Amino acid sequence: MKYLTTIGLETHVHLKTASKLWCGCSTAFGAEPNLNTCPGCLGYPGTLPVVNREAVKLAVTAGMMLGCEISRRSTFDRKSYFYPDIPKNYQITQNQNPICLGGGGVTIQTPGGSKFIRIHHIHMEEDAAKINHYARFSGVDFNRGCMPLIEIVTEPDISSPDEAMAYLQTLRQILVYANVSDCNLEEGKMRSDINVSIRPEGQEKLGTRVEIKNMNTFKGIYAALEYEIARQTHAATHGGTLVQETRRWEPDLGETQSMRAKENAHDYRYFPDPDLTPIVLSEEQIKAWRDALPELPAARRARMVAEYGIPEYDAGVLADEKANADFFEAAARACGQGKAVSNWFMTEIMRLLSETGKTITECAMTPEALAELVTLVSKRVINGTIAKELVPELFENGGMPAALVEARGLGQVSDTATLEAFVDQVIAANPKSVESYKAGKTAAAGFIVGQVMKLSQGKADPQIVGRLVAERLT
Ligand code: ADP
Ligand code: MG
Ligand code: ZN
Repeated sequence: MKYLTTIGLETHVHLKTASKLWCGCSTAFGAEPNLNTCPGCLGYPGTLPVVNREAVKLAVTAGMMLGCEISRRSTFDRKSYFYPDIPKNYQITQNQNPICLGGGGVTIQTPGGSKFIRIHHIHMEEDAAKINHYARFSGVDFNRGCMPLIEIVTEPDISSPDEAMAYLQTLRQILVYANVSDCNLEEGKMRSDINVSIRPEGQEKLGTRVEIKNMNTFKGIYAALEYEIARQTHAATHGGTLVQETRRWEPDLGETQSMRAKENAHDYRYFPDPDLTPIVLSEEQIKAWRDALPELPAARRARMVAEYGIPEYDAGVLADEKANADFFEAAARACGQGKAVSNWFMTEIMRLLSETGKTITECAMTPEALAELVTLVSKRVINGTIAKELVPELFENGGMPAALVEARGLGQVSDTATLEAFVDQVIAANPKSVESYKAGKTAAAGFIVGQVMKLSQGKADPQIVGRLVAERLT
């Protein structure tokens, strides 16, 4: 019998706010444990939460980017909870009236064409503190406690680990584009609970699902899904029983392990949080936020092709990372030569990015510098070889190319008399090449041009040299 896979993802994403969800504590990553805390986010009795306006804006922005309906009135609930990472013994979340409702989704590309993964809803909640385990004790770091999160819940529309990857990558790209989150996986800013079940082909009703909690690497999610599908299929075909449960992925063992039977909603004893008033959004507010929405990656690709006349392939690569697209556009606008800027970016700059592991915002080169470099080449102030030599230096140390060219005398030599002298010198020194050219080996001319370029320390105008060499040899 053939089995079909069903996957639904619940993805927690850290919102990019300066302060936490209910207090003024910083959200900066990597601070010393418990430095970014106050009585509020430490859960002291008697403190009161005040919702962070920017967090609401970002949650709504996420919903709009994904095409979800925005709640005009959303509310917060308490979810019962007992664990040291939430000392209040309840987590503030949204159960009854989440900030964004259905209607939206993410379009992914699959081998069978494009597919729409529907979003069920998006809700806001506070993050728990981080528990660090040491050899003989554990420590609770409340810096993460009460950081603002959104949880994006899909319908069970995903049917393979590959589709899950495509969904997560596309979702991540959209949220980074919208500046909702930097979705840094290593910093735990994008974590997913993965729900997975199988059912025999032809059966309508979905199978019993397993939930694997808190996965924060794409590789881990893929491996856990593959393992779990194989485990469930094996059980189904060998007379085993599958129970609804929560499992944990053990990366070192490469397997999932049972944690607990799946709790149901009523186990959480949700009830409205009496300390927080509902979030009521006016039509004007929603319109203002909608007007400020950034372009989606797909729209940006199309616009870049039209506006700069670059190939679709280039636009796809450049728009993949928002920061790269921003850099490209700034440079292309500054010099008006999109295609040339794209060529430099796609070759030399991409190479340096991958060699150094830096992002474009971390390197020292500015879009203005790249624009100036392109202009210097197109005005034939320098040739391509010199320009190529300058790129790593600009990338590493910054600065402007015109100043470097000036300071080092790298300007292109196009003075005919000087170049003629070089050509004569090379021809005199290479009689064999001249002979073989005359004997019909035209490639010998290329060798002579190369020698002239060398003699000029790479600065000669290669076009003029080519012409002069041709003249001299015939
Ligand atoms: P809960 O809130 O208890 O986690 P939900 O019904 O809200 O449960 O579903 C959570 C996630 O599980 C959603 O993404 C949903 O699409 C997915 N899901 C629900 N049923 C199944 C199933 N049978 N197989 C796989 N995923 C499922
Ligand atoms: Mg769940
Ligand atoms: Zn605080």
